[in-house]
Amino acid sequence: MIGLSVFMALASTSDGGSPTVLDAGANAAELRRMMITVRVGKRTFGEVLDDLGVPGSEAHRLISATRKTKEREQGIDYRRLRPKDLVTLRLVGQRVEFIEVRREYATETPDVRRAQAGAKGFETRQVDFAVDIKLALVRGKVKSTLSEAVDDLGEYPVLINNYVELFGWAMDFYRETRVGDEFTVLVEKLYLDGVFVGYGRLLSGIYKSGLHGEMTAFRHALKKGGFAVYDSTGRSMQRAFLRNPVPITRITSSYGMRFHPILGKRKKHNGVDYGAPTGTKVWTVARGRVKYAAWAGASGKLVIVSHANGYETIYAHLSRIHVRKGQYVAQRQLIGRVGTTGRSTGPHLHYGMKRHGRYVDPLRQRFARGAALPKAKKAQFLARVKRELPMLSGIEPLPKGAVDWLGEAL
Ligand SMILES: [Zn+2]
Repeated sequence: MIGLSVFMALASTSDGGSPTVLDAGANAAELRRMMITVRVGKRTFGEVLDDLGVPGSEAHRLISATRKTKEREQGIDYRRLRPKDLVTLRLVGQRVEFIEVRREYATETPDVRRAQAGAKGFETRQVDFAVDIKLALVRGKVKSTLSEAVDDLGEYPVLINNYVELFGWAMDFYRETRVGDEFTVLVEKLYLDGVFVGYGRLLSGIYKSGLHGEMTAFRHALKKGGFAVYDSTGRSMQRAFLRNPVPITRITSSYGMRFHPILGKRKKHNGVDYGAPTGTKVWTVARGRVKYAAWAGASGKLVIVSHANGYETIYAHLSRIHVRKGQYVAQRQLIGRVGTTGRSTGPHLHYGMKRHGRYVDPLRQRFARGAALPKAKKAQFLARVKRELPMLSGIEPLPKGAVDWLGEAL
């Protein structure tokens, strides 16, 4: 059982109240299950629901079935919501299945009210705020896409994004996922009073790829924030450049000759296009310095980042730019949002790469591996692998208690 800090980490999945679309390629069907936590801010509760896409009739049903009344003492007092209060909703399609309203007080324990939809309508109660952490093994097989396979298991899209990060350096989930591929992930699940509210730490994973064979990856927290990924021998699985600059989505046009949709003729495509909804995060594939961050004619809102060894990466048609010229950026830092500015037929990211001033195919570059595990930490890491691998492989049962074998952050 742990307290407040974990819950606050969950709350950070959304900032201003608009739902973050974590699965960029998602269509309506893929979004049918969503768990989201938002701060009320300067909105009425009705406006919060509206911003989350809950229809008026469903909002009415929810509020009348869960609001605090004389008969429903443990109900939710919607009229007294304050800007700092946190609302967690589980949406299935446009229906609310679960709601929790959490009110923080500076001097007392928080007041948490929760309503769960059941056969006889909503059941509302005031709950203890402690979070339970349980280690879980999630495994499945790809029948069409990785997103659908994870969704079929009843898991949430954020799990795929975290999982893809483990192997994002080793393989390209956009182009190289195959029917029959198998995935396994060892992840902490967080429960508030028995109800799943989110994922905790992702420990490790296995991906059996039809193309690349079986890969095993262990995630290790870094002291300075972020994480490192190692295979079972302690070799780094990370590379200087990430494969892709956007969360999992689809490639709509690859590098090389193609028929240009606007110019109406064959032309070399100097990059890779990722179809993704406007607003999807765009991050730098490697550390570097922003060389350009402004409007640039046909490219629309454009960011160019210079990297070591003569590399440059190009991110075009953005709806928003989050960096300034001259700024240093870390690998995977948010630099802008997908858009359709400039000469573009719809929301997508055009991602280009140059080496010593000449365009190259970003998906065909080979990049150096990251540093191996520090020698002093190797024994500790191998002890972890020995303990964790049998669980990840489904040979040993998962422990009931807390995960205490990860070792300290590097
Ligand atoms: Zn393009």
